[in-house]
Amino acid sequence: MLQTVPAFDRIGEENAFAVLARATALAQQGRDIINLGIGQPDFRTPDHIVEAAIKALRDGHHGYTPATGLLACREAVARRTLVTTGVEVSPDNVMIMPGGKPTMYAAIVMFGEPGVDILYPDPGFPIYRSMIEFTGARPVPVPIREENGFAFSAEETLSLITPQTRLLILNSPANPTGGVTPRGEIEKLVKGLADHPQVAILSDEIYDVMTYDGETHTSLLGYPEIRERLIVLNGWSKTWAMTGWRMGWSIWPNSEEGGRLYDKVRKLAVNCWSCVNAPSQFAGIAAIDGPQDEVERMMAAFDRRRRLVVDRLNQLPGVSCIVPKGAFYAFPNIKETGRKAKPLASALLDEAGVALIGGPDFGVLGEGYLRLSYANSDENIERAIERIKSFLER
Ligand code: PMP
Repeated sequence: MLQTVPAFDRIGEENAFAVLARATALAQQGRDIINLGIGQPDFRTPDHIVEAAIKALRDGHHGYTPATGLLACREAVARRTLVTTGVEVSPDNVMIMPGGKPTMYAAIVMFGEPGVDILYPDPGFPIYRSMIEFTGARPVPVPIREENGFAFSAEETLSLITPQTRLLILNSPANPTGGVTPRGEIEKLVKGLADHPQVAILSDEIYDVMTYDGETHTSLLGYPEIRERLIVLNGWSKTWAMTGWRMGWSIWPNSEEGGRLYDKVRKLAVNCWSCVNAPSQFAGIAAIDGPQDEVERMMAAFDRRRRLVVDRLNQLPGVSCIVPKGAFYAFPNIKETGRKAKPLASALLDEAGVALIGGPDFGVLGEGYLRLSYANSDENIERAIERIKSFLER
């Protein structure tokens, strides 16, 4: 029998992919399945972005690019960062990555090893904990609480930092809760981090422009005092409906003080994937520099569906749902139904034809909640919640 290193027995999963596979299999058997499980926009990538990739291939851009990404693509990211955050970043600190996840991997393997603590949000994106466990570091959950509107608490986060803490992972706007951490809380956190100079920060800002009700996203980039220990994860997947293109970017420090992290991630790229495929990088440039009206149209649709889904969820027996301020997820509290979240999610798929994710797939504090992605049509959202209602009333 082959024996791999123990690290591979500690890798977790993203259950949203397993639910997607099961929902697809049921649909192929002829079942009518409504998918509120997977976190991806139900919109097509805008045509001008697709055309830019096709043109790049026709123009002969099908070789390697620099491992860090095409300069033009990194410059586009720097321009976009200035617009969204008001902060100037050099293209020499921008890394083009094959999606959002590889930045998580790179940052976590850079800091994780036995004896080290890494703080991550719970409930939160499941890959953080999975990758922390992979490295042998101790995963330390930072509770994300409904009573805080699913925002980080600076005080609670700071209280969990020990001399062993090497990395703090933040995510706002957040998956799976839709929570947005207010500026005041981020400022408190940054202030407190001055006492812990050994802690690097990975800020996952992939939903940065997906906020509602006048709420704005506060980027950690806005705080020069932590810039030399800050990694910012972002990408094209959500904003421009490009999940299958595998296009992400991240911003890394590269000074001596900043551990030459950029150079380290560049070397990791050379060793693992060489570069991101060239036509996708041209598409990425077109996405940033082109018209944003389709992004606005998509966001208007998400906003409308957000209000619809929350309104309908709050009519269900035993269910209450706060209004999410960001991303495209609702995270209803189902504690009053008396049911456990994961068996309920499975039963809803098998018996009611609604795919959604049980809160515990995002951490132990996710018990008592479900995650619904409202990246689906108004009609399907209405039908799905009607089905959940009949199921709960049975
Ligand atoms: N971060 C968060 C918070 C996410 O929700 C996701 C995708 N669901 C990612 C990162 C990964 O994005 P990508 O698909 O580009 O790897």
